[in-house]
Amino acid sequence: MSELLARTRAVLPSWLAVYYEEPIEIERGEGRHVWDADGKRYLDFFGGILTTMTAHALPEVTKAVSEQAGRIIHSSTLYLNRPMVELAEQIAAVSAIPDAKVFLTTSGTEANDAALLLASTLRRSNQILALRNSYHGRSFSTIAITGNRSWSPTSLSPFQTYYVQGGQQYRSPYAGLSDGEYIAACVTDLKDVLDQSGGDIAAFIAEPIQGVGGFTSGPDGLLGAFAEVLREHGIPWISDEVQTGWGRTGEHFWGWQAHSDDRNRATPDIVTFAKGVANGLSMGGVIARAEVMDGLGANSISTFGGSPLTSAGALANLRYLLDHDLQANAARHGSTLLAGLRAQESPIVGDVRGKGLMIGVEIVRPGTGDPGDPAPELANAVLEATKRRGLLVGKGGLHGNVLRIAPPMTLTHAEAEEGLSILTASLEEVTP
Ligand code: PMP
Repeated sequence: MSELLARTRAVLPSWLAVYYEEPIEIERGEGRHVWDADGKRYLDFFGGILTTMTAHALPEVTKAVSEQAGRIIHSSTLYLNRPMVELAEQIAAVSAIPDAKVFLTTSGTEANDAALLLASTLRRSNQILALRNSYHGRSFSTIAITGNRSWSPTSLSPFQTYYVQGGQQYRSPYAGLSDGEYIAACVTDLKDVLDQSGGDIAAFIAEPIQGVGGFTSGPDGLLGAFAEVLREHGIPWISDEVQTGWGRTGEHFWGWQAHSDDRNRATPDIVTFAKGVANGLSMGGVIARAEVMDGLGANSISTFGGSPLTSAGALANLRYLLDHDLQANAARHGSTLLAGLRAQESPIVGDVRGKGLMIGVEIVRPGTGDPGDPAPELANAVLEATKRRGLLVGKGGLHGNVLRIAPPMTLTHAEAEEGLSILTASLEEVTP
């Protein structure tokens, strides 16, 4: 065990997740690459979701943050804060939410927490509808609405949560149905759960593509069909865009937009975001229509959310993303990756899915049918093999058997091809 791993285990919680038999100490990053403490270089196919929306050490962000750090590092509240206002204006402008207001937090958990607070205050209810296999954070309240129990150590709950089908088409009781039939079956399930809940529901929360859950989703249009039912009951829809926001899915700026059309005109009442918004600085936030946002009778509820430092970083990051149309870049190289992965004839690949630069590869035990049995040990072996070859990918899914691919959105064609060939070689290597 390395000296740093031993110290990590001694002083940090035992449940702190660390990848790899010999975990990597990341020391430096540039573009789509990171370097470990031994100087080994890795192509980063996971940092895009974790932290680094655009690129490691993006000069525009570094400059904005260091200039702001040299000027003032302070709280976000009590005094006027120009970077926070500019950032909120920018976010409201791209939010696609009418009359949007923005509340900035320090994480995705805190953003969802605030969204739940808004909805439960608005509706005077502690009942929440969520998707099975979902992940919304690690506070007491967000654990309580997380469907994926492998990430939620307690079921003690300040909320009464009802889970509905929908987010996992590959491993679903409705697998094998056409998309239209699948949506109809999920809507029936939603209506059934609503009938059984017998009370006012504060909100429905969903990730358009489940991140921790293994980059799984229902078909496009599912959440729009849900929204029509929710609207009849006056139930607000919270779209958790912590992983799907900012154009990562290529086709849309927000994940929820794949579910909205001219007929259903489905628009969430509340949107939450976090992760890469400030390219690695801790920031999250909530977008809501003014009447929802302003329904809270509290004073400021965050010391650091939207601080001048993180706001300056996020603003520079978002400007870069928009100026360079990184959504189009995500669509372009995401298609290359998806096509390349779908062309694999590997018996351990049960499913390849995703959109843009958010791609999941389900690793299964060969010859176990469709859907194949989850093979977390083979997924771990692929993770180790890619690491040896200089590529970092993520892992997820209820069974820990899904490879998650989410590079920074400035990915180049050559890097997409390089990652693909490492993945191909690694899948071949571990196939029994
Ligand atoms: N929602 C989703 C969809 C997430 O993926 C995560 C983080 N994995 C969170 C919320 C919580 O975000 P954070 O870790 O920043 O608290």
